[in-house]
Amino acid sequence: MSRRIAVVDKEKCNPIACGDFLCIRMCPLNRAGKEAIVKGPDGKAQINEDIATDACQVCVNICPFGAIHMVKLPDQLTQRPIHRYGKDSFVLFNLPVPMPGKVVGILGRNGIGKSTALKILSGTLKPNLGDPEKPGDITELIKMFKGTEMQKFLEQVKAGTVKVAYKPQAVDLVAKKAEGKVKDLLKKVDQKGKMSEVVEILEMQNILDRDVKDLSGGEMQRLAIAATYLKDANFYFFDEPASFLDITSRMKVAKLIRSLAQEQGNTILVIEHDLATLDYISDELQIVYGEAAVYGIVSQTKPIRRGINEYLDGYLPDDNIKFRNYKIVFNKGIEKEGKQPVLFEWPDLEKKFPSFHMKINQGAIQRGDVLTITGSNGLGKTTFLKMLAGLIKPDKGELTSKIKIAYKPQDLQTEAGTVQEWLNKVAKDHNSGWFKQNILEKLNLQSIINNNISSLSGGELQKVYIAITLSLKAEVYAFDEPSAFIDVEDRLKVAEVIRDFMNKNDTCAIVVDHDVQFLDYVGDAMLVFSGIPGKEGQVKGPLSKKEGMNEVLKMLGITYRMDKESKRPRINKPGSQLDIEQKNSNKYYYA
Ligand code: ADP
Ligand code: SF4
Repeated sequence: MSRRIAVVDKEKCNPIACGDFLCIRMCPLNRAGKEAIVKGPDGKAQINEDIATDACQVCVNICPFGAIHMVKLPDQLTQRPIHRYGKDSFVLFNLPVPMPGKVVGILGRNGIGKSTALKILSGTLKPNLGDPEKPGDITELIKMFKGTEMQKFLEQVKAGTVKVAYKPQAVDLVAKKAEGKVKDLLKKVDQKGKMSEVVEILEMQNILDRDVKDLSGGEMQRLAIAATYLKDANFYFFDEPASFLDITSRMKVAKLIRSLAQEQGNTILVIEHDLATLDYISDELQIVYGEAAVYGIVSQTKPIRRGINEYLDGYLPDDNIKFRNYKIVFNKGIEKEGKQPVLFEWPDLEKKFPSFHMKINQGAIQRGDVLTITGSNGLGKTTFLKMLAGLIKPDKGELTSKIKIAYKPQDLQTEAGTVQEWLNKVAKDHNSGWFKQNILEKLNLQSIINNNISSLSGGELQKVYIAITLSLKAEVYAFDEPSAFIDVEDRLKVAEVIRDFMNKNDTCAIVVDHDVQFLDYVGDAMLVFSGIPGKEGQVKGPLSKKEGMNEVLKMLGITYRMDKESKRPRINKPGSQLDIEQKNSNKYYYA
């Protein structure tokens, strides 16, 4: 295989919109009589890599949709590919090594090949070793890994003795198709006879009689994790188990997943972008790097702390590979000097529903600020936002002025048509140069602007929703879990985009999220919800970020320390010396 690879993103390639195969017509090699780019059987452009890659980049630059990629593979890469989806499609190198008795975390950008790797390990995708013309065959792969732990594992895959339990990423989509009650579904999959134990650990008692299709994102996530746990398997794989869960549930899920490693002969792999959760769940880490949608390389296994720090640095010292040209630094955000003018104030508020009661202290939102909200789900965050917007009338306290709120919901629906068509239909300010440069480009949405919304990945859809919300005219921009499905790099960008937007427009953002690192980076002030989910909620704040985080973690009985090198928050082991010291001095969030 060439050291350069060419990939046509078939989703982006639109030969009619570009003016009838622009790349084919303009390619200098084609003009000289060669067939570097041709019309493929699927009606899209197809590159003949052996002819094209030694030449120029004309097609890469000329395609109006950025559909063509031609990249040089790292010189250090000596392995053969594991799988290639098509002649000019994504290529995967190496595989994550499942380690019996350990939880292995997998970290990498979206579209870098993590799911592809896991499909191969679970036996659902037959690897073709980079030659898409040949049928996939695991025997060849076994030969490639001869004499390693991987060989043993792949032989089990071949023999069919690897029993897989898989928690997919998009639990909300599963819920929409599901039928029946939660308890019936759990009973059906409970091959271990541990249903009541898991229901208690994940606090699912009050949703057992609910229809699966009526569950919230967080409830569905817990159900999917419980169902995966209950299967009598020996290879457990969790794709983004933290999305939609509040901080308490993240910790419970982390413990449950970790407990699987104690069962004899189990291997556990976890993909997760919430670094604090990933850090807490995993013993070891495998990084997948490369170029999204083009190629992915799985790194060697590393201890979790070192692995996450190397990932943030974008440099793998063991392989001497720099895979990102910037470091991800989660500093503690910019502390603003002095108080900003107030945008909006609310008095003490109270609201009662037949089975739910909430109380909110008076407070204010400053112009240009990002107010974060955290706490468990089911404590009234949405009701609070609806009261601010005048959609629900409080029982006590009167809101004299109502503010216009643009709202990004947690649950993302797909629409018909392309991203551009959706923006044209609902957005108000998406054609300004500022919006294009500071929002669409920063979130890397320009490159998918002509894609169909129904074909977007979870992370892409989330970023489109964020852009749409910011294009609306409002005083307050509320985002319910904007980090869901977004990779670490994009979490940082989303935080920056939201902060810059509020600063420039003198508006305010309210961000509900449960990724501690993201909250720390994006917010200026914090509201902390406490109480009994579904029954009663109280709200403290607005507090300073430090006070707020301290309050939340105290409620959860968790302490964090700051990693000395990367400055990222890490959860202390319960009962460790640091945990005890910090609890005694009331410094739950690192001092
Ligand atoms: P990740 O799990 O890291 O997000 P994936 O393994 O899902 O990444 O995808 C890696 C790349 O492979 C993406 O560009 C994706 O579009 C492509 N890909 C995934 N499945 C197929 C398929 N069946 N045919 C062609 N390309 C695919
Ligand atoms: Fe047109 Fe780009 Fe597709 Fe080539 S790759 S046919 S330029 S859309």
